[in-house]
Amino acid sequence: MAKKKTKKSTRRRKGPESVSVAMYDVGFGDCFLLTFDYANDGKRHLLIDCGSTSVKKAHLSRVVDQLAEDCQGHLDAIVATHRHKDHISAFGLKGLDAKLEALEPEVVIQPWTEHPEAARGALEAPGVFTQAAVARMLSLDATQQFAQHLVDSPLRVLAAASPTTRRQLERIAALSIPNTSAIKCLTRMGKRHAYVHAGADCGLSDLLPGVRVSVLGPPTLRQSEGIRTQKKWDEDEFWKLYADVARMSAANTAAARGRSALFPQVPTDSIARAPSYVKWVIRQLDAAQLHNVKRIVRALDDALNNTSVVLLFEAGDKVLLFPGDAQLENWQYALADADLKARLRKTSVYKVGHHGSTNATPQSLWALFRRRRSRRNPLTSLLSTEKGHHSQVPRESLVEALQTETVLHNTESWPNRLREVYVV
Ligand SMILES: [Zn+2]
Repeated sequence: MAKKKTKKSTRRRKGPESVSVAMYDVGFGDCFLLTFDYANDGKRHLLIDCGSTSVKKAHLSRVVDQLAEDCQGHLDAIVATHRHKDHISAFGLKGLDAKLEALEPEVVIQPWTEHPEAARGALEAPGVFTQAAVARMLSLDATQQFAQHLVDSPLRVLAAASPTTRRQLERIAALSIPNTSAIKCLTRMGKRHAYVHAGADCGLSDLLPGVRVSVLGPPTLRQSEGIRTQKKWDEDEFWKLYADVARMSAANTAAARGRSALFPQVPTDSIARAPSYVKWVIRQLDAAQLHNVKRIVRALDDALNNTSVVLLFEAGDKVLLFPGDAQLENWQYALADADLKARLRKTSVYKVGHHGSTNATPQSLWALFRRRRSRRNPLTSLLSTEKGHHSQVPRESLVEALQTETVLHNTESWPNRLREVYVV
């Protein structure tokens, strides 16, 4: 009995004395700093995302200055959950990139879909990657090219859209364009890189002694297939959808550049010269194309969200869950694992997924959180969001549930506050 106690207390001493989370107001986006305080052995700082689609560069620059001060000029690790602009834009902005690089992180963690060799389309998939996985990354590249095209020449593709629809689609597409400069900056940073998948080692055990850090997502294609055969959940055939989207977008892009894949030799004429019945047909075709574009843009947005790194930090009785923008399909893998489910139950801090969209907080995950409604040990939820940038984000019903069942901190309710620090 006595022996057991000694062992336990030794292990305790190794862990951090306290954990704090700083949430920065970046409008529609994410920026979090986790600080693990090891008392005599100093502090370890880990940045999770730094990006926005709604605030000006000057504001983001103030955020970066504040977080540089908060981490005392050095980061131990950076996690870039996925390549959406609202999560990594600061890394691609001139001046801000240099400030972030100066924080000299030891480790940079990104999803496996960002592996530079695989992203170049190498035929031999590196490490754990299967050919199917590489194919999927290529299809993501193709869909991102489509988003780029939509942003570069929106009027052509969206001719049939109302101004409101057009603005909304452009905004969502702008999220998904390849943030090449930000990705390049992340690649330059860090002494080590970990491109992770569910169950992988993210390389933080040396840096964060006494803290168990688990990667819950994104799953690899093989892992997703495994789940699919176990469960009936392929209502919208999620992974298959990527391939369809890629094919459609490749054809659309070629056509929009004036190189019709179908009839390259047929001469074209101005619509203005067409008789009225032909104009009617064109309007119908435009409407059909717009419908397709909407589907592609939304599928692309979901696809990239589903590449989000999902991390679970366990330090003593503190359990912190940071799922980026992971949607239901990314969550399926973790939620099919009994051990992970048991550990998710103990979550004490929940970074609300995808700025409060309902898809990112699956009911089955929400139902697990046993600290909901608890008076003694309530669940703390952190919501970084701003209305009006993404349809139905944040979802009112979810915000209501967060308000009544957790201790909610919402950047939307901050008037002119740059950041808040929560000791957990
Ligand atoms: Zn996001």
